[in-house]
Amino acid sequence: MTIHPALRLAERRHWVFDMDGTLTQAVHDFPAIKRTLGIAEQEDILQHLAALPAAEAAAKHAWLHDHEQLLARAAQPAPGAVELVRTLRARGCRLGILTRNAQPLALLTLQVIGLADCFAPAQIIGRDEAPPKPHPGGLLQLAAAWQVAPQHMVMVGDYRYDLACARAAGACSVLVNLPDNPWPELTDLHVQDCRQLLACLGLSGEDVTAPDRR
Ligand SMILES: [Mg+2]
Repeated sequence: MTIHPALRLAERRHWVFDMDGTLTQAVHDFPAIKRTLGIAEQEDILQHLAALPAAEAAAKHAWLHDHEQLLARAAQPAPGAVELVRTLRARGCRLGILTRNAQPLALLTLQVIGLADCFAPAQIIGRDEAPPKPHPGGLLQLAAAWQVAPQHMVMVGDYRYDLACARAAGACSVLVNLPDNPWPELTDLHVQDCRQLLACLGLSGEDVTAPDRR
């Protein structure tokens, strides 16, 4: 199989990445975080915290921040992530991060995995800079900053929220780091990891397989 030519992946110059589990190896144990914070399994963590009384929300946000800071300090790059980002950067692409984590922790994570120089801090958008994914607001914010139509952008992520955000904005959605794709209706391209995505760009000699655009 080949990538659908309509994606024009190699021609795209505006790339936005989810942080945790996309550029890094996934370490967040969301069920455990929810248990600690008293959040039901099916609930969204950020939505739950936003609905709490201010004092309780502040205390739980503080715990979440400390927990995520420990994870950021121990971050490991995902397979091919450093190579992909550095290659896109070298080609002059505009690069952004859109994360439900806090912006300072995303910056710390990038420092730990050695990619901080590839992203302008203003183009690292966390949960306090835009409505959290799956809301497309953060992606549209980057589109406005870059003065590009969202249809020309690529959003790369490892979860449904990343894909749904891309869909809502009209951007190309790429799923990485999951062996199977539970959300084909939201996905333009599913690849094994960033290494295979780099190969899809025709920038390495590896053979790739990818599903047709759905
Ligand atoms: Mg993620």
